[in-house]
Amino acid sequence: MEKVLFLAHNEEGGGLSRACLEALSAARDLAQGLGAELAVGLFGGEVSGAAEAIGGCGAACFLAAAGPVFASSRYASDAAACEALCRASGAGLVVAAADSRLSRVLPGVAQRLGGRIDTHLTGLWVKDGSPAAARWFYRQRMVAEFTRSERPWLMSVESGCFEAFDGPGAVEPEPVAVDLSEACKRTEVLGLETPSADEQTIRPDAELLFVAGAGWTKKQADGRTHVKEAEGLILDFLNRTKASLGSSKSLVDISGEGHEVISYLTHLHQVGQTGATPRHPKGLAACCHGEEPHVVGWRFIGERRAINLDAGCGWAQGKADVLYVADAFEVLARLNELLARA
Ligand SMILES: Cc1cc2nc3c(=O)[nH]c(=O)nc-3n(C[C@H](O)[C@H](O)[C@H](O)COP(=O)(O)OP(=O)(O)OC[C@H]3O[C@@H](n4cnc5c(N)ncnc54)[C@H](O)[C@@H]3O)c2cc1C
Repeated sequence: MEKVLFLAHNEEGGGLSRACLEALSAARDLAQGLGAELAVGLFGGEVSGAAEAIGGCGAACFLAAAGPVFASSRYASDAAACEALCRASGAGLVVAAADSRLSRVLPGVAQRLGGRIDTHLTGLWVKDGSPAAARWFYRQRMVAEFTRSERPWLMSVESGCFEAFDGPGAVEPEPVAVDLSEACKRTEVLGLETPSADEQTIRPDAELLFVAGAGWTKKQADGRTHVKEAEGLILDFLNRTKASLGSSKSLVDISGEGHEVISYLTHLHQVGQTGATPRHPKGLAACCHGEEPHVVGWRFIGERRAINLDAGCGWAQGKADVLYVADAFEVLARLNELLARA
């Protein structure tokens, strides 16, 4: 009989991230569909809060590799913890979130276990009594559905594809011993430097994606550019709505061409064929033409709207649900005014 292990690490506050809770739903559904036993494997500094947050998930066992040595993300100790949890569970199928901490170690863990791994899965189900998975290839242009007979089969799932599990319950995880040599501990995390919440404009959990296009830096009706004004309007909008910021390629490339730029934009903001494919319920593009290589990055955006001066722009060709033919400078200034009053 198959056995499914849900593998996760606790967050700094003690609980589990939304991405891990979504991965748990994927693991539970898979176990239920296969009639398989579900096990939970947790690692991190202090995992009791994380275990209690999911105590009602119906797992037959809760295993933990916990302690200060696992508190920070470090390849050697995380990989050893995951390997020990996988071995202790005896599971042939391992499901985890494709977050940065797990994505860093899972391929190495699969190698150590002599197993296989598939990453960034967007679907997981049972077909003809066997597990089946889906993932996108070629910059989200083709989706493949596949299965594997090799075990253990490690799978990391993308966020935004499954409902987050909600079912706390009292539970005491069983400790699993991890063989950690001194060499595994020689990298020390001394601290974290993160931008403040307002400086951090890429917000994967935001309800809204706001995409800025190169039009913000182009000459406007008065024959002049207004880049500083654009910078202020966009930042004000983001701070008020807590939307996530995306960009077209043309806009982020401008910095390399020596033009005046929007200072807080980087290539990490680029959405599209050669950029990111974020997942948000809604998207609003402004001063962006809506060309195919850009719009392909909107594949997972639920409701799409755009503001453009050009009624014949790409968004009008069936790529947006609503196109506002308007001056984005005026629209954003008015929106910020209304938001300030709200
Ligand atoms: C292989 C390949 C890969 C690519 N990958 C990507 C990718 O990953 N992501 C990506 O974005 N692009 C990508 N591109 C480039 C893409 O084809 C477009 O060139 C790019 O998306 C255009 O950016 P833009 O719409 O911001 O700029 P522009 O095409 O310059 O459009 C600016 C728009 O702003 C509008 N505008 C100007 N002023 C205002 C105003 N005041 N109010 C409202 N609207 C206004 C204009 O009407 C215009 O439509 C790729 C291209 C290739 C060939």
